[in-house]
Amino acid sequence: MAPLHRGFRGRTRLLFTGLALVTLLLFTGLLHTLVVKRLQRTAETEQLALLDKVDQALRQAARARLQVLGTLGDAATLWSTGLDSHEAQDLVDRLQRSSRHPGWLGIVDLQGRIRTATGGRLLGHRLSDETWFGSGLRSGRLEPIDDPLLRSVGAAGGQHALAFVVPIRRGSEVLGLLVEVRGWDWADAALESVLAGSASRQGLSVMLGDGLGRPLYRHAELGSTPGRFAGPLLVERSRWSGPDDDLDWLLVLEQPRREVHADADQLGGTVLLAGLLFGLVLVGGIWWSSARLARPVERIAAAAQRIAEGHLDTAIPQFDRGSAEFRAMSRAIATMSQRLIEAQRVLEEEVRARTAELEDANARLAHLADTDQLTGLLNRRGLEPRLAHTLALARRQQSPVSVMALDIDHFKAVNDQHGHATGDAVLRELGRWLGQRFRGTDLCARTGGEEFVLVLIDSPGSSAEALAWHIVREIAQLPMPGVGRITVSIGLAESGRTAGDGTELLLAADAALYAAKRAGRNRVVGAVGPASPG
Ligand code: GH3
Ligand code: MG
Ligand code: MG
Repeated sequence: MAPLHRGFRGRTRLLFTGLALVTLLLFTGLLHTLVVKRLQRTAETEQLALLDKVDQALRQAARARLQVLGTLGDAATLWSTGLDSHEAQDLVDRLQRSSRHPGWLGIVDLQGRIRTATGGRLLGHRLSDETWFGSGLRSGRLEPIDDPLLRSVGAAGGQHALAFVVPIRRGSEVLGLLVEVRGWDWADAALESVLAGSASRQGLSVMLGDGLGRPLYRHAELGSTPGRFAGPLLVERSRWSGPDDDLDWLLVLEQPRREVHADADQLGGTVLLAGLLFGLVLVGGIWWSSARLARPVERIAAAAQRIAEGHLDTAIPQFDRGSAEFRAMSRAIATMSQRLIEAQRVLEEEVRARTAELEDANARLAHLADTDQLTGLLNRRGLEPRLAHTLALARRQQSPVSVMALDIDHFKAVNDQHGHATGDAVLRELGRWLGQRFRGTDLCARTGGEEFVLVLIDSPGSSAEALAWHIVREIAQLPMPGVGRITVSIGLAESGRTAGDGTELLLAADAALYAAKRAGRNRVVGAVGPASPG
């Protein structure tokens, strides 16, 4: 299979996965930014609104306390018996008991001396030096307390103490001050009701500082870690003017940004997760589809490859579904391979036919080369190997082979008297007659002009000689067209007598023939000497 990035499947995957991821990344990123930024802004706006609510709640709580004390300060009947009466002490004790976070209450005369007090503490102590003493005689006030003695009776838990101060009046006559020194429990209670409706309180803290920048109050929600780094903070500030609009304090609301943005971040995370899941599904889909798309082309390519390697009978996959181009391509390749197979078959047939023709021609050529054209008998070239074969066979079977060399007597004269064509006719007729006479296993050849050789198998010299004489006589009786009669001489040789090969045997027969000619022709001579007619 092709490497990942080279094949159709791999390339499709890479391309579409890349495109899909880039698109998805851009889209998810954009959505994430839009959603998160918008929600973060909303959360910050809500935080500002919360600051406003806190401001109002603290102001109302302080006002409510001043109102309670103011009503008592204006209760003329209460003070008719003086600032240190039983009724006054009783009032102080009841107020102290009714408070969930007991502080200290004192009744102060116009000289600033404490006349009645919770638990009798600080009786006689003078408050005329307090900065708020004068203004307290005119209207109800909320004041921070610096006096260490006052602070010690007022607030628990190290909180900065506060004084609610209202004038004590009988009609229009001011008699003194009603002072309540306490901690910030009222503020905690007020904040609790506001924060109860707030979306996220984690790490939230609310602080109040006076005009000099001194921290007076801190309300810390769960998870806020004062003094420790809690990441970037969202800080909202406003001026806090107190219950009577005459304070110039600073109200600060702090919360780690990640807490304020928690919802936005969570939604952002969800968007990212959704994007990731969608991306996974998308990539999975792309991989599955590219495999589906590529499968036909891969199968066609593999089949085409096998055909190219020489397996012409490979079946090309055909599809009844899928894209038209694939179907057309596989059909075309199948047709091409069919044509290739057909062309090869035709070629092979042609080669077979040509080979057969060639073999035939070769056989005919070999036959021609071994055959004497005039008589159709073997020529010398045809005779020699057959004679060698015959001799080898005979030697193995220990059977004798006789060779006759036959020559027409005075044939020159035939030519001279009757013409060459008649001479040829005589040769043809003699050849035909010899061929008939020595059919079957015996060999019969025309080895020269008017010379013939006969090879007799399984024939000892004596019977061959008898046969030779028969032949000489039969030929002498044979009518030759246009010539009348001819005679022949025969020289005989026998394989048993000469130990040599075919050539020697032929030479011996030739020698015998020569002897027969010299002895007068129309006769037979054996290899060892002239034979006489039997
Ligand atoms: P001998 O009895 O000694 O064999 O005498 P001869 O005349 O037969 O022998 P010689 O060798 O003198 O002559 C052979 C003649 O055979 C000479 C040649 O013209 C003739 N001849 C050889 N081949 C052919 C042939 O193919 N056709 C014809 N018509 N004549 C041939
Ligand atoms: Mg002759
Ligand atoms: Mg001759």
